[in-house]
Amino acid sequence: MKINEKQLELVNRQITRLRNSSHFYGQWLKDGGIEHLDSEEDFCRLPFSEKKDLREAYPLGLMACEEEKIVRIHSSSGTTGLPVIIPYTAKDVDDWGEMFRRCYEFAGCTSRDRIQITPGYGLWTAGIGFQNGCEKLGAMAIPMGPGNTEKQLQMMQDLKSTVLCSTSSYALLLAEEIEKRKIRDKIHLKKGVIGSERWGEKMRTRISEELGIELYDIYGLTEIYGPGIGINCKYNTGMHYWDDYLYLEIIDPVTGENLPDGEWGEIVITTLVKEGAPLIRFRTHDLSRIIPGECPCGSKFPRIDVISGRSDDMIKIKGVNFFPKQLEEILAMFPELSSEYQIRISHLDGRDTIRIYIEASGRYDFKQLQGRVAETVRSRIGFTPLVYVVELGFLPRSEKKTKRVIDERYA
Ligand code: ZN
Repeated sequence: MKINEKQLELVNRQITRLRNSSHFYGQWLKDGGIEHLDSEEDFCRLPFSEKKDLREAYPLGLMACEEEKIVRIHSSSGTTGLPVIIPYTAKDVDDWGEMFRRCYEFAGCTSRDRIQITPGYGLWTAGIGFQNGCEKLGAMAIPMGPGNTEKQLQMMQDLKSTVLCSTSSYALLLAEEIEKRKIRDKIHLKKGVIGSERWGEKMRTRISEELGIELYDIYGLTEIYGPGIGINCKYNTGMHYWDDYLYLEIIDPVTGENLPDGEWGEIVITTLVKEGAPLIRFRTHDLSRIIPGECPCGSKFPRIDVISGRSDDMIKIKGVNFFPKQLEEILAMFPELSSEYQIRISHLDGRDTIRIYIEASGRYDFKQLQGRVAETVRSRIGFTPLVYVVELGFLPRSEKKTKRVIDERYA
């Protein structure tokens, strides 16, 4: 999706703000002698920013305005080393609330709804983001925060909550508890607004059916406001995102080249009006694609597809880059195959060898099936694997995340 004139104008204003601050990107712009962009080509020449740049700015190096204007900070996870601190101005908080209000609106929520918010409050952007949007919508917030299932269910019944905001795992847990206690007829939920966590269609169907609710996926990340920068509408054709606040690009995660609409790659986000900590060409490492064309709902807000994974999942093999998702797509073409597979990559006799173990969904001619799968992988991805079709239940199961790719090359 090409950057439009209005967006380019906003980026130019942001460039001025960044250059006048001690923000790392402002320094890059000064070093590169960049003051103004005239075209999309100019924009695409700007360097990417990464989470590590943000981490190096710890604690308050991302602040791109006078400190008097900062009203709040949030922080993203510090799984490796220092956390990232994001400062917000009053306008940033307000803009974020407006984006989140739109999310609720796209999910069909109104000021008559009672919204039970179970994500955590605090340094995280989660709970408070759901709260801001809810208040902007004029709905009744029930700010539970996480855990304490007993109390959650009590409030859900007594206050007749109509909307549940949670992670997919917690929504499933609540659904199971409601089923166990046989209190489904005392529950008034109509919708679930589910915060970003990758979840499969199977889990989705279960939550939706057990609770009897419509589900909506929220997209967002702390570095860019927080949750609420995109959501699916009732047609469920991908997530609309707010292109008046953000400019999204999809790039090839290896070459950094921009990809045309419709092609899968990594989401790169530029904030357009953020004051506290603006970001230009921030690499999210989330994989998706711009969905071309218009949504049946008629909204002009563009759409991205459901996040399919992270660019860190990418496997490089025989000069070809591929993602487990591509293999999943091939498996979906064969009704004879189940969803379970395992990829093993090893280095033998100076060459990379890829073995793919796939479970069959029944009794078939495995040998013939192996040949057809190998040929499809060759023609669609570009390398020929050794394919082993195995019986259902042969591959290991996990209660957590199943490890599907085993790279033995560097063991
Ligand atoms: Zn739509």
